[in-house]
Amino acid sequence: MHEQFTAQEQHLIATARQFAQTHIRPHAATWERERRFPKDLHKLAGKQGLTLALLPPEHGGPGIGALAAARIAEELAAGCLSFALPLVAHNYVAWSIAMKGTPQQQARYLPPMLKGELMGNFSLTEPGAGSDAAAISTVARKTAKGWALTGRKAWNTLGPEADFFIVYAQTEPGSGAKGISLFLVNGDAPGLEREPAYDLIGGHAMRLAGLRLTDTPVPAANLLVGPGEGLKFALYAIDYARAYVASMVCGMLRSGLEEALTYVAARPAFGRHVADFQGVQWMLADVATNLEAARLLADHSIAALQRNDGTGTVAAAHAKKFATRVALEGLATCMQVMGANGMKAEYSVGRHFACAKMAQFLDGTTEVQNVVISRAMLKPYGIRA
Ligand SMILES: Cc1cc2nc3c(=O)[nH]c(=O)nc-3n(C[C@H](O)[C@H](O)[C@H](O)COP(=O)(O)OP(=O)(O)OC[C@H]3O[C@@H](n4cnc5c(N)ncnc54)[C@H](O)[C@@H]3O)c2cc1C
Repeated sequence: MHEQFTAQEQHLIATARQFAQTHIRPHAATWERERRFPKDLHKLAGKQGLTLALLPPEHGGPGIGALAAARIAEELAAGCLSFALPLVAHNYVAWSIAMKGTPQQQARYLPPMLKGELMGNFSLTEPGAGSDAAAISTVARKTAKGWALTGRKAWNTLGPEADFFIVYAQTEPGSGAKGISLFLVNGDAPGLEREPAYDLIGGHAMRLAGLRLTDTPVPAANLLVGPGEGLKFALYAIDYARAYVASMVCGMLRSGLEEALTYVAARPAFGRHVADFQGVQWMLADVATNLEAARLLADHSIAALQRNDGTGTVAAAHAKKFATRVALEGLATCMQVMGANGMKAEYSVGRHFACAKMAQFLDGTTEVQNVVISRAMLKPYGIRA
């Protein structure tokens, strides 16, 4: 790590690790039980420079590399994905405004986002359109002062809490990807209704929920990305998002493995400790091998994306597919070696397990990663997958 990262990057990664240890791990089970996102802690993360790792220095960000940002995400997710994911999504929103926003939009949104005082999220998925994002049916109608948005959105991270959303909407119904634009929509905009957060298998602190927009007025000045460019921009950013999901699930798997090792080393059985049984040792050794491989794939995909040589998209698809798969299997193994106690909420492994399953859907499902990989793999053979 020391050779790879600058002193500032090392400092921020160590800060994230300490932050997770002190502020996330001890409280994550309570957030899950109370179905609450710790907004104040998000602010504290902002004060410690952890919220907007990806923002370029000219916009107030720390100017660290993408790999260091991935390590920060890994450290936070090792504490709790429900805290880390909204923070990474917030990061993505700020980065989008830095890349595509007007100077006025940047001045209005970025400084408070940097401090963790304004929380943003993105709103693409709909009840009727998930993987097939070009099929969204939320419509943006042109008005005298700008736009009016009507439609339903689903699976918004921090749906009931976020201060504003980047909403993807169709400006030319029937034109698919060609008409999709991005709008900055404030949480208190007229006609915007937030649905209650979903009942899920876990991850309740992410506060996943739907939104309803009914003729919601959006001033012309709040158009972020215009028709034809909206989905293209989302797809450009999604490769990085997939690489970061891979890094985050590595954090959860690492945390589960450490917890399982601690447990089996202390748990007596048949006059020995559970850790003394070779069968158990080898189960956990396989988890450790898969963790190593998943992190290497995640790092490799970030390096490929940074090189911008056309190999990053497939590398990120491999990383996300593999890391989420081995995290789910590996966390199940960690629970298995802990016996029935592994299912108790006082241990983090069950919480991570539920979130690892959820990670197989967000930013493109496992099957969508296979579509990306198959397409590239079969292209030289003249097959369109
Ligand atoms: C924890 C979490 C956080 C999220 N946060 C956000 C957020 O903040 N904002 C947001 O907009 N969205 C968010 N999402 C939504 C996420 O992006 C969608 O779940 C994802 O795009 C998949 O859509 P879907 O769930 O509707 O599945 P569907 O698209 O309905 O897919 C159903 C099944 O069909 C399979 N399938 C679909 N197409 C194909 C194909 N071509 N070939 C083979 N199989 C296929 C899928 O893999 C899946 O198994 C979040 C989801 C989760 C779980």
